[in-house]
Amino acid sequence: MKTEQSPTPTSCEPPAIPLTVTHVLEHLFCPRFTYFQYVISLPQWEERRPIVQMGRKSHEDRKKINPTYLRKKLGVVDRKFDVPMASMRLGVRGSVDEVLTLSDGSMAPFDYKFAEDRGRVYHNQKMQSALYGLLIRETFQRPVHRGFLCYLRSKHKVVTIEFSDDDFLDAELILKEVLEVIQVGYFPRATKAKARCRDCCYRNICIQ
Ligand code: SF4
Repeated sequence: MKTEQSPTPTSCEPPAIPLTVTHVLEHLFCPRFTYFQYVISLPQWEERRPIVQMGRKSHEDRKKINPTYLRKKLGVVDRKFDVPMASMRLGVRGSVDEVLTLSDGSMAPFDYKFAEDRGRVYHNQKMQSALYGLLIRETFQRPVHRGFLCYLRSKHKVVTIEFSDDDFLDAELILKEVLEVIQVGYFPRATKAKARCRDCCYRNICIQ
């Protein structure tokens, strides 16, 4: 599928930055996760983590994506897999499933979701994709206009997210909020979605 020289990252090894995109996702689930985990260092139990469970996918799943479809429908000219990226400016690092180079010269994150397509892209999914987009922009010095989600439980349906400038600003604001909780150490607001408290590993110690 390589038809043009693909851009290379500006540095080979990402700098050591502790905050990951997964941390930010957990903060979006409930800001208090940041406090419990990174301010007072309370561990959590893996089996409770819906976000992590949603992220399950295998290399076999990826092979089911038709390269011709990617090339013809999405204009993909190159794919890179599991690219580690980090930004000192943003204070976050992460590794997206695929970094795509598109025929218009832009790049895009491609993320597999162990989930069904529910007909809409949820806020946390959009913010995760926008964060990867920001990391791609900084790492490869290429524009990012869109991201892609592939829903494994909907026959690998691919959904396009068209990013606005506000989406990138929102993603940066969330990052700032996470870093502020960690650096200042304040107890943040609880999630408004109270149903999330039911299965939360912190429910016995959290004021809901
Ligand atoms: S119990 Fe509810 S408010 Fe507290 S950390 Fe868990 S999800 Fe957030």
